[in-house]
Amino acid sequence: MKARCLVCHDPAQAEQHPDWQQRDVAGQPRRTLCLNSPYVAKVLWPWMTHAAGDPACDALEFEISAEAGEPCWCDACALHLKEAGLDLNDPAVRKRFALDSVARFRKETAAYAEAVRPGLKVRFT
Ligand SMILES: [Zn+2]
Repeated sequence: MKARCLVCHDPAQAEQHPDWQQRDVAGQPRRTLCLNSPYVAKVLWPWMTHAAGDPACDALEFEISAEAGEPCWCDACALHLKEAGLDLNDPAVRKRFALDSVARFRKETAAYAEAVRPGLKVRFT
């Protein structure tokens, strides 16, 4: 049995945690959840731990929302950019950072799955 999860698209979590939502350049929230917010550690990884704990589960599939790689102006992204010494006002930097965030999410999630249950298949779509 494969456990499947839609990443960054979770209207219930978005409503409950407006600070986890991506922001556009004007600071307006988007419905997509930001991968640099606590959403990953508070929702996705606990889900993964639970799913991997089911002996009937032989694979995890993460379907990453297309919007996950959109440039985001939330506080968490701003903090990451500042810490990395990057230009917060350069749209190209923001775009690259967003795509890097998706890549980092995939890498960290695969490593976390391997730690939770070695050999478990993990797929990203
Ligand atoms: Zn963000």
